[in-house]
Parts: sequence; C-alpha cells; structure tokens
Amino acid sequence: MVYKVIILGSGAAGCTAALYAARANLKPLMIEGTQPGGQLTITSDVENYPGFPKGIQGPELMEKMKEQCVRFGTEVLQGDVTKIDFSKRPFTISLDEKKYQAETLIVTTGASAMWLGLESEKKLMGKGVTACATCDAFFFKGQDVFVVGGGDTAMEEATFLTKFARHVTVVHRRDTLRASKIMQKKAMENPKISFIWDSEIIEVLDVKQDKVTGVKIRNLKTNQVTEKKCDGLFMAIGHRPNTALFRGVLDLDEKGYIVTKPKSTVTNVPGVFAAGDVQDHYYRQAVTAAGTGCMAAIDAERFLHNQ
Ligand code: NDP
Repeated sequence: MVYKVIILGSGAAGCTAALYAARANLKPLMIEGTQPGGQLTITSDVENYPGFPKGIQGPELMEKMKEQCVRFGTEVLQGDVTKIDFSKRPFTISLDEKKYQAETLIVTTGASAMWLGLESEKKLMGKGVTACATCDAFFFKGQDVFVVGGGDTAMEEATFLTKFARHVTVVHRRDTLRASKIMQKKAMENPKISFIWDSEIIEVLDVKQDKVTGVKIRNLKTNQVTEKKCDGLFMAIGHRPNTALFRGVLDLDEKGYIVTKPKSTVTNVPGVFAAGDVQDHYYRQAVTAAGTGCMAAIDAERFLHNQ
C-alpha cells in the first residue's frame, strides 16, 4: 500500500498536519518517533495556547491533539524511522524492520535538548543531570538544584522547580537574560531562585559517587573556579533540530534546520514538506508549530492534486 501522506513526528506540527490531511481524506500515516507528542509532553503549564484560558498541561494538550487527528482517520505507528529513500517517488521509509511507501512526506521531527558536552554530565545523566524539569522535578523535593541557561526555558524550569526544591540557582554565561521580560520578572521575584552570572559549568560532581553532589563553576570574566554543592542539574540551553536522516538530501541551514521556501512548507525535494521546530528556530511555539503543520498538509494536498 502506498500512503498519500506520511507524517514523521507527532508534536504540535505533526498532529495538526495529520488532522488536516485526514480531514482532506488523504488517510495519513503518522509515525510518532522516539518522543511521542514531542516537546510539549515534557513541559508543564501551557498558558499561551489559544482556547485554554486557564492553561493546560502539555501532555494533556498533546493527548487531545492525537485524539483529534485519530478521530478523523489518521493511522498512528510508534517507532523511529531509520532510513528514507528519497531517490524516487513514492518515497520508501524504513521503520524498524518494515518499509512504508508515501507519495508525499511531511517532516515534523522537531528539535531535541542540547547538552554542555562534558564527560561528567554524560556519566551522570539520569543520576541527577536532566533536561526536563517537568519529568524530574518531583525527585528533588527539599533539595538544592542548579539550572543552566538564560532563556525562557531556563526561567520556566527554575520557577517550576521551586515547587519542589529547597533552592534553585540559575547559572548563566552572561550578565543579562535572553528570556522574555515577564518570565525574567517571575523568576527574579521568586525568593527561592538566585542567579550566578557570567559563569559556566566546567564539571559535574561527582562521577565517583555515581550521583550529582555539586558543580564546578568558572567565572568567565575572572577565570575563578568555585565548587558549589547541589543535588541536581537541569540543562536549559536550547535545542538542536532532528535532521540527521535528511542530511545531504534536504537543504539545511547552518544550524541544521530544514530550509523551506518562503511562506510555504515546501522543501527542495518535490513532495517533501517540513513544519514545526525542525524548520523554525525563530518562533518555536506550540501554536506556530501547529500553524505550519496545517500549512504542510495543505501544501501536500495541493501537490497531490496537481500531479
Ligand atoms: P534559547 O535559545 O532562547 O536560550 C538558550 C539559553 O541557553 C541562552 O540563554 C544561551 O545563552 C544559553 N546557552 C546556549 N548554549 C549554551 C552553552 N553551551 N552553555 C551555557 N549556556 C548556553 O532557548 P530556550 O530553550 O530557552 O527557548 C527556545 C524558544 O522557546 C524561545 O523562542 C523561547 O521564547 C521559547 N519558549 C517559550 C516559553 C513560553 O513562552 N512559555 C517557554 C520556553 C521556551 P545566551 O543567552 O548567552 O545565548
């Protein structure tokens, strides 16, 4: 069987593309990927998605989106795509041991959290080092934690963590935050949050004890190195697009995001469309991802119609 549309990814962009494609009677297949529901499943309160005046939990929003696209006939498969043959249409997608064919592809594989790249960070991952406050904050009840980063994610995670932790320290490499004014204010006014400026983490302690006991911090202006005790370390330093599968085939920008033609989701390969965080590193909002997901389904439908 050749699908008219296969959607790779199941975040806000993927689900919205599936919803529109299903309602256009294209009977789409959505392949969920390693993180079904995408980044919203690891966030807490979503207060800026229209239609939810009291806010909604990220995982709940994603469950509702999936339910909505399934209701109109989207087929959903779990698993991670290992290979795509773009050389001829229909495209062939390898998922685990099986192969699926599609006349059009909508890529919504999103972006993943970035790490500092320290050996100690890697060794202590899941043992006190994490990139998801929503998933792991509960484990740090009454403890001291550090958050790395100066953007909205760092402020959001730090604020959320204060519900559990005794104290939260934000380490930022500059002396001004990148986060929006409202998120900065919320964090700065929280008595349980303090800041260490112009500094970077150079080592997570203590690999020998196989758990996080502290961090080594270097002040970037004075070069002074200090050690601070803590029980957990939360990374909030941005994201990297999940585009390894497309390298050499789809046009990517210098940061690895898929390049689409202006005002569309059209990529350089006819029949392949991209939406959501995998092609947008500027807005990166749930609602903009959903918006481009809708565009991709309409672009795919028109492409099929014109064939
Ligand atoms: P950002 O790219 O906005 O911020 C990343 C932060 O991490 C920056 O402060 C950056 O420092 C720092 N950083 C990057 N690399 C390193 C490194 N190697 N070592 C130390 N620090 C580093 O990412 P976010 O994830 O915070 O936000 C992404 C997007 O999502 C934004 O558009 C944001 O507005 C949005 N967002 C919105 C939310 C909301 O509205 N509720 C919640 C969360 C995110 P520097 O500033 O020096 O570059």
